[in-house]
Amino acid sequence: MPVFKMLDIDLTTGRHQVTDVSAQFDRDLGGTAVATSLLLDTPADLDPYAPEAPIIFATGPFSAVYPVATKTVALFRSPLTGNLGESHAGGRLAMAMYGAGFHVIRVRGASPFPCYVTIDEDQVHLHRAHSLWGSSALAAERILRDHVPSSYKRSIVRIGPAGERRSPLAAATVDSSRHFGRLGLGGVMGSKNLKALVVSGGRYWPIVEKGKYNAFYKKLYDAVVKSPAMKKYHDLGTAMNVVPLSRINSLPTRNFAQGFFEGADEISGETFATRHLTQHLACGHCQTGCIHMATLRERFHPEHHQFKTFKISYDHELIYALGSNLSISSPEEILRLLLLIEKQGWDAMSIGVTLAWAIDAFQAGHLTPAHTDGLVLNFGDAATGEKVLHRIARGHNEFYRDLERGAAFCARKYGGQDSAIAFGGNEAPGYMTGLYAYLGYATGVRHSHLDSAGYAIDQKALNEPKPDDVLTAELYKEALWRMTLNSLVICLFARNIYTKEAILEGLDALGLTGWTETRLHEAARRAHARKLQYKERCGFRFDDLVLPGKLARVVSGAGQVDPARFARQVAAYRDLARADLAAAADVADAPPSAIPNPR
Ligand code: SF4
Repeated sequence: MPVFKMLDIDLTTGRHQVTDVSAQFDRDLGGTAVATSLLLDTPADLDPYAPEAPIIFATGPFSAVYPVATKTVALFRSPLTGNLGESHAGGRLAMAMYGAGFHVIRVRGASPFPCYVTIDEDQVHLHRAHSLWGSSALAAERILRDHVPSSYKRSIVRIGPAGERRSPLAAATVDSSRHFGRLGLGGVMGSKNLKALVVSGGRYWPIVEKGKYNAFYKKLYDAVVKSPAMKKYHDLGTAMNVVPLSRINSLPTRNFAQGFFEGADEISGETFATRHLTQHLACGHCQTGCIHMATLRERFHPEHHQFKTFKISYDHELIYALGSNLSISSPEEILRLLLLIEKQGWDAMSIGVTLAWAIDAFQAGHLTPAHTDGLVLNFGDAATGEKVLHRIARGHNEFYRDLERGAAFCARKYGGQDSAIAFGGNEAPGYMTGLYAYLGYATGVRHSHLDSAGYAIDQKALNEPKPDDVLTAELYKEALWRMTLNSLVICLFARNIYTKEAILEGLDALGLTGWTETRLHEAARRAHARKLQYKERCGFRFDDLVLPGKLARVVSGAGQVDPARFARQVAAYRDLARADLAAAADVADAPPSAIPNPR
């Protein structure tokens, strides 16, 4: 029977401790469910930036032993929404944690000085990082790669200057262009004076039933490499969505003013692939390789023909947030904005949507040149967009410092709340397909399109109309199913490969016996209930959720969205969630974990 271990690091004292958490994995399955239990162990009124506030990195039982089980989930209290912060990242981290012998790494406390932590199996060390502090997220990785001894299974998680400034829009970057992007993990790391984590190791689980394991592995491997679903991610990647979404009026354009972008062809996946794609990368233990890297040439100086080159990853969300939603149709201009964002270590979606709000607010008169110190904000003006990003990075004045706090915060302070396209405080992803996309963003535990894929329900309902309550129940069912996938922390691109049957077979082949469909469902329900419990403890209320005013006036892929209808379906979702919360109360109200607290 595999043993699951947690490494607990206290940055205040520099001490660490290892705990056996196998019982929690046996009860909750792994990943997001186990991490949620641990998060519930913390006091509800803890500030996201309080030293005691934990960051919990967790993987699942399939991580590094089966194909495309590549992600690591991070849980924390979000400085952006004030409640549950949950973010998933690929790269090599899951594989490195497995190699180091840990399925959970919990970081608490705050270092009295800038630091980075190296974890090489049992060797855990806290190092001074004064010379790294202030370096970009790109440079920090290069420096650490050169200075920390190499191992095949090594992963580097670090923040850029945005995280050091404790921006709630700051991401933590993992290896080559993977990110814990959403909800402000970078700011939380910055509040702990933690510049980076370097994880490595070469340990392996003993596979007891090799025959069973090999047979199942081959089946999955074949499904991954021969699946048309995975092939599309390799070929054009999610950037393939740009043109089809625009054609169905669902590609957010000019801060969600419309779903059709006249420049969609120029920033399509096909255009990027033909003109800019130079490399495909893959997360550790993935055969798909969907990470698309473009090359950008930059002059050292405008007067000289000498260039430096950068590789920058792109996908649909980045193209939407810095392209169509700002009305920018030049791939080079999008890449230049992305490069600045990568260096600073911002979440590209959140900073892009915040910029779009600023343009709307400027044109509506909520902002004036006095705020922007002379800049005139317009859609389609990438050069000014770059200047804005530079000014945010320098903290040019109060307005630019505020921009780094997100669209919802700025709209409350400066006006233009209708134009702040954020749900529960989180800036919206790149699908304006209709009611169910918006409902998914609003009700999802992390306010993300990945919670419940409402955009898919919108598109299906166009051909197969059903009553609203039926579709809301489908949305809820999908959210629960994703709890299982996220407890295994697989890449959601492989969601059609990891069916219930495949999951049960995979668990059994690892010697994790006794799992049934019912047990999986119960664990998922419990995890979802606990997340809501945590959010409500932090002040979240379904009844506070509103549709951003602008979205009620514009036409989405499924037509105009009536705010009253949106509110009714939020209430319907709330009632479904409440029923499950009550059913899971016996477990959710009990002390969430029996893990001894080393402090
Ligand atoms: S499909 Fe892409 S994101 Fe998913 S694991 Fe593979 S390389 Fe990473």
